[in-house]
Amino acid sequence: MSLDTVKEKTIVCPHCGHHTHISIDASNGDQNYYDECLNCCQEVHLVTHVDEATDKLDVSIDADDEQFY
Ligand SMILES: [Zn+2]
Repeated sequence: MSLDTVKEKTIVCPHCGHHTHISIDASNGDQNYYDECLNCCQEVHLVTHVDEATDKLDVSIDADDEQFY
């Protein structure tokens, strides 16, 4: 059990390059959600992964209008 599970991260908007500060509650495990850029108001797709071994939080960001399948 960890008392401090909220991690602060700086993400860079894939649309406009604006830096946004976010807080992620790592106690919820891996998350996959959308946030809105405060600068350009476009949706940013965020995927967070918690590495329990190192207690590190990885955040992947992509713009949903560019899909590579
Ligand atoms: Zn933006």
